[in-house]
Amino acid sequence: MARLAHRLTRDIDRQPLHPREVSPLELNRRHFLYGSVAAMAAASSLGTASLKSASASAPRVAPGARVLVIGAGFAGIGAARALALDGYTPLIVDARDRIGGRAWSHTDLGTSVDLGAAWLHGGDDNPLKPHAQQLQIPWHPADYGNGRRIDLRGDVIGVAELADSMGAPALQARLADGLFWAWLRWRLGRLVNASGSGRSLAEHWEVAFAGAPDADACALRGAMESYFAAPLDEIALESLFVGEGDELLPSTERLMTGGMQRLAEGLATNLDVRLDTIVERLEWSPGRVTAITTDGEIEAEAAVITASVGLLQQSRPQLSPALPDTHRSALNRLAMGLLNKIVLRYPHRTWDDGEEYLALCGSRLASVVINYGSHGGAPILVGMLGGQRARDVEGMSNDKAVGLLHAELRRILGANLPEPDAAIVTRWGQDPWSLGSYSFLPVGARGNEAQTLAEPVADTLFLAGEAIDTGGYGAAHNAWRSGLRAARQISGGGPLLPS
Ligand SMILES: Cc1cc2nc3c(=O)[nH]c(=O)nc-3n(C[C@H](O)[C@H](O)[C@H](O)COP(=O)(O)OP(=O)(O)OC[C@H]3O[C@@H](n4cnc5c(N)ncnc54)[C@H](O)[C@@H]3O)c2cc1C
Repeated sequence: MARLAHRLTRDIDRQPLHPREVSPLELNRRHFLYGSVAAMAAASSLGTASLKSASASAPRVAPGARVLVIGAGFAGIGAARALALDGYTPLIVDARDRIGGRAWSHTDLGTSVDLGAAWLHGGDDNPLKPHAQQLQIPWHPADYGNGRRIDLRGDVIGVAELADSMGAPALQARLADGLFWAWLRWRLGRLVNASGSGRSLAEHWEVAFAGAPDADACALRGAMESYFAAPLDEIALESLFVGEGDELLPSTERLMTGGMQRLAEGLATNLDVRLDTIVERLEWSPGRVTAITTDGEIEAEAAVITASVGLLQQSRPQLSPALPDTHRSALNRLAMGLLNKIVLRYPHRTWDDGEEYLALCGSRLASVVINYGSHGGAPILVGMLGGQRARDVEGMSNDKAVGLLHAELRRILGANLPEPDAAIVTRWGQDPWSLGSYSFLPVGARGNEAQTLAEPVADTLFLAGEAIDTGGYGAAHNAWRSGLRAARQISGGGPLLPS
């Protein structure tokens, strides 16, 4: 068990998420889309909670109370920091022996490699960005145009510069033009209704990418399946209408070369954290919770629960009494997606130093390969596996997974590529404390699940986590924002604005 207890001194979280008014002339694509989505959401009965600003209200939990926070990932840390700043006494417990949850940085390969979250998504709006800057954690601005698109399907490898393929006018217009996404949402919006359209993204893939070169569309499909962590035919059309769907490939993302876990650890400094502590059961009544843990009982007046959707669907921790039916059915409409990584370290670099990405079409495993060497790191290539490929690797031996990816890389990079001298294969589906990588909206979801799950239960249980951010889902900053939201529900303070 590890325990850290000190005073909080930083106050970044006290600042409003959007500290200044935005004039109409400054409206960017994100703001434009919020406007268009708001109009459509009103028409289609999708929730608009992320667009509302809530003024301070009466606390739901008495100031100064002890609040149990289950989970030392970004959601739990965000909640605990905000609660501590508001004068509450948060206690974080986590089953793992480390802070960070699905932010897990491996440092044994000579450089920090993230096996979970690696990028701060969404550009300058990402609320974790100022914290990373303040903590001086190195990052590398991602340049998605810097690399090649590789088509492995034929006897002869098809190659195109990413800047020319993903950046080609046809695709560029579809990806980068806010009007296109607005148009697509408008066109498909009539299919979306409060009970779910029952349609998948795959059904509309052709609409979105009609006319694009086949190999580009194929590589991009792989990238999308990595992004959503599921095969396109399982992803609900409603995904396009939730949160930041317009920013699928923004140019201002940051690869956290200093390690995403370091960011989580830095943010948890001065918080009271108990690791190696499993909450097995949570008995509760209004205003009181008793956690039965592997390290004894913990009493508190409220609990913030940040266990993943996969765990909550399996009633872990067991809640007594159980969540209300509204919450349970919203939870069961969500799904855990899978994104896995294969990390290969080579004795030396034989490939282009400056190239950041390979986008693969027709690969057995990886849809994207990241060159860690391009930002001064060790000779490491990381394969990203989404959709069905991520599932395939769960049942594969390390030797087979490493051998398959290495053979493809040798085909692409040349026969002088040496054998890797170290490798890591992730299997997030078998991680007992996440049961998957991150959530997605499966066909049948309505797109309003996060709003339902964010509703406090008897002013005592507050759910948070990457799936329960009313402004988007899946990413570290969604987890963070959901934690801040839970804390504000408890304390009654602060505005909730889209960020
Ligand atoms: C391979 C992969 C790549 C990713 N890439 C990115 C990326 O590039 N950028 C990005 O923004 N996001 C990315 N993500 C998603 C991101 O990691 C998550 O959205 C985020 O870290 C989730 O934070 P959280 O606090 O909601 O949950 P978690 O980080 O899972 O934290 C919850 C914690 O609760 C603990 N817990 C659960 N049940 C119990 C219990 N009963 N008792 C005690 N403790 C319990 C768990 O141990 C866990 O540590 C990626 C995820 C994966 C797996």
